[in-house]
Amino acid sequence: MIGSVRVGVRTRQWAGLCLGVFTCITAHTASAADCPGHPDAIGTSRTLVVDPRESPRIGTMQYPETLPLEDHEVVLTFDDGPLPHNSNQILDILASECVKATFFEIGRMAQVYPEGVRKLRDAGHSIGTHTQNHPLSMDRMPIDRARQEIDDGIASVKAALGHDTALALFYRNPGLLRAGDVEDYLASQGIQTWSADFLADDWRHVSPSRVYDLAIKRLEEKGRGILLLHDIQARTVAALPRILHELKARGYRIVHVVPATSGQPATPTEPQQWQLHPPSETVAISHWPKIPNFVFTGADTLPAPALSDFDWRDGQLMRLAEPLDRARRLARGVPLPREAPWPRQSPLPLDNAASALPVPAESIFEIQEKRHAATRPVAPSSHHAEQTVPSESETDGVARLISADARDSRRMIPGSLPITEPGLRRVLRHLI
Ligand SMILES: [Zn+2]
Repeated sequence: MIGSVRVGVRTRQWAGLCLGVFTCITAHTASAADCPGHPDAIGTSRTLVVDPRESPRIGTMQYPETLPLEDHEVVLTFDDGPLPHNSNQILDILASECVKATFFEIGRMAQVYPEGVRKLRDAGHSIGTHTQNHPLSMDRMPIDRARQEIDDGIASVKAALGHDTALALFYRNPGLLRAGDVEDYLASQGIQTWSADFLADDWRHVSPSRVYDLAIKRLEEKGRGILLLHDIQARTVAALPRILHELKARGYRIVHVVPATSGQPATPTEPQQWQLHPPSETVAISHWPKIPNFVFTGADTLPAPALSDFDWRDGQLMRLAEPLDRARRLARGVPLPREAPWPRQSPLPLDNAASALPVPAESIFEIQEKRHAATRPVAPSSHHAEQTVPSESETDGVARLISADARDSRRMIPGSLPITEPGLRRVLRHLI
């Protein structure tokens, strides 16, 4: 019923936008064949123009709709930047492949490294925002504070750009932590909230090879979608060349998403194109995070996740009838599972568990990066044979810089200025 209503609305709007105008059909940008000096580049197959007001929430990890992509089309997104070195390397990799992506920038990072935001603009990428301080409490903070986080983040990125039109009204919640009143505010401002269709766990302490494996595996399960990555992560820098190379080898195409403007109307689509096909029950990530249902209740307890929520390891159901701490003890002499269930610190439900669980402890979100993470490259493509892997000290710096405290007061970047990188490192901690 709702879908049929929306069909009519959307169709009428597009009819008005595109009547007799063929130029409103998808604008194409650089293709692989148009990537000078890089004949093997994957390129960007097309540009998708979207109107944030028509589809205010996208990404099937949390919402019913996602971008209207064709089969084997992928949208790359990067969060948490800009951070010199790693972000610059991501830009270099994307440039060498003629790939355009969407970046969700943190306001305070933009204040400290404004040139990093301008590099995104100059390279033609889409620039969205990711709050001012990257708090891990957007799902429960007072709406006034949440609005301030959103507004300040936008203002900081705009200031770095020096030009309003270079900023897309695209937004992503830190940690994908959502709340209804926050989303209502975003929609009222014409801002599109992006979730994702799949992750590659590149904020965790995993190897670049694992990031690559997860990106490809989860994409193959869905066939299309929005991939969430982090340009500040050294492991992402190391994994990205191989990911792009493999995407091309498997016939995937990169789509660049830009916001509609008066001179560039939205790409005409049908409503059903915004619906991703039902996720496979064997895709672990399709069950994570079931945050949307959590935060809309506004209650102090959460619904007990089904045991299937903890599907993992290539879809094999993990039957855990014991707390994770016992599992950890047992794991001391045995390799841990390849993919830990999320959240790691959360007790997993027994079959006879109560129907409601306490709200997750704030410490759940303190997933600290190992200080001496190995960040070996994962067989970079020939284009990037010269790709260097950030040093351990750089990796440590990144981990400290983007880590975030779970408690509100400590999670926020201090308001005192000027903000220095060591200052950021002390107060920010990891997340997505
Ligand atoms: Zn983030």
